[in-house]
Amino acid sequence: MFKGDWKCSGCGKSITELPFEPKNTSNLTCRDCYSSGKVVKKPLGEKKIFQGNWKCNTCGGEINQLPFEPKSTNNLTCRECYMKTRG
Ligand SMILES: [Zn+2]
Ligand SMILES: [Zn+2]
Repeated sequence: MFKGDWKCSGCGKSITELPFEPKNTSNLTCRDCYSSGKVVKKPLGEKKIFQGNWKCNTCGGEINQLPFEPKSTNNLTCRECYMKTRG
């Protein structure tokens, strides 16, 4: 445990002990806030890719990967066409 005198960014309570040495003291969370889920930890760079065998509705090209799970497979757009329509 690391001892010190910090402040919780969630509830403002003082933190005197931490299981790690804080590098950024302006964004600390006390045990209560951490366990109550007030501070949501985002998973870093976790992007799900769905693989399959679909067809682009615009150019007819094959689509093998999508960043989302397609609900309707007859209205899909490949990356290239998607970029074009977006401008
Ligand atoms: Zn707190
Ligand atoms: Zn296309």
